[in-house]
Amino acid sequence: MDVSEIIIPGDTPGIEWRLPVIRFKGSDPAAPKVYIQAALHANELPGTALAHFFCGKLRQAESEGRIAGDITVVPQANPIGAAQSHFGELQGRFDLGSRTNFNRDFPLIAVGDRAELVDELDKCSAANRLKRQLIHMALGADLVLDLHCDDESLQYAYIDEAFWPEAADLATALDMEAVLLSDGESSAFEEAVGFAWKYEVPGERKAKLPGKLSVTVELRGRRDVYPDMAAKDAEGLLQFLIGRGVVGGRAAGDAAFSGPAVPLDNVEIIRAPEGGTVLFHRNIGEHVAEGDLLATIVTRPGFVEGDIDIRAPQDGLLLTRISDRLVRRRGDLMKIAADRPSKAARKAGTLED
Ligand SMILES: [Zn+2]
Repeated sequence: MDVSEIIIPGDTPGIEWRLPVIRFKGSDPAAPKVYIQAALHANELPGTALAHFFCGKLRQAESEGRIAGDITVVPQANPIGAAQSHFGELQGRFDLGSRTNFNRDFPLIAVGDRAELVDELDKCSAANRLKRQLIHMALGADLVLDLHCDDESLQYAYIDEAFWPEAADLATALDMEAVLLSDGESSAFEEAVGFAWKYEVPGERKAKLPGKLSVTVELRGRRDVYPDMAAKDAEGLLQFLIGRGVVGGRAAGDAAFSGPAVPLDNVEIIRAPEGGTVLFHRNIGEHVAEGDLLATIVTRPGFVEGDIDIRAPQDGLLLTRISDRLVRRRGDLMKIAADRPSKAARKAGTLED
């Protein structure tokens, strides 16, 4: 195990960020190389907890000479976001200085141009410098996992169709309850990595990328940070790497992924037509039928005439729910992985800003 630090000078005098990078050297140059980062959205810690236990497992594997492929782990990828507090509340999703989502605006380049990412870093803001160095590390790997979480949520992942169904082994190993098949059209970290591989040859787009993987894993909800859960997820991740030949050992089993894998067009985002107090009738993990009562929005407390019932537009699995109980007009309430495409229009790219 080798530990180094990426040092990022702040945009104002007297500030500098230090980002620990943990590396395990593989013994087989032909084995896949792995890059794993957590908490790019700095207030999403389930992945950091996973990485904590995962590094322990890797140290054990290393002492037994079982690391075949190079593995890089960045357990807390966003020290800039982690330090942003606004009136006592951590703001880990958007850079307060530029209003940019920390998981957007990654450079879309061909993998052959990787070296250019770290040229002239002095010309970049601290946040962009961080982004360039993260994606530069990722593009040196074959298997890239970006560990996030949702608000209240089951465990699921965004996986580009270019990696599916090959990536079903990851979904099985991590016990995911659903997979959302994305179309790879955004500047999110995972999709920028996929972009670099797809357009390796300028002007030619590869539809499938066998042996590669770039994925955003949503490790349940923001508060799902517990020792048993993180240790189980770390073991799942280790099993995935054993299955892919990155770590030596016997895989625990080869059960097939049984959860739904649906395109993003099949995700129903349930929104509040008006602002108010949210009374949820249904919880994540439940299967709902078309017309089922999901939530009531109390728009005028004390007057039932103001209540608005929100019903399921079609059958599906209730994947996520907001944790706030005051919602604004048009605010997201839930995500449902549904059987058929949603009637609501969706622009290509990520589901949320
Ligand atoms: Zn996130």
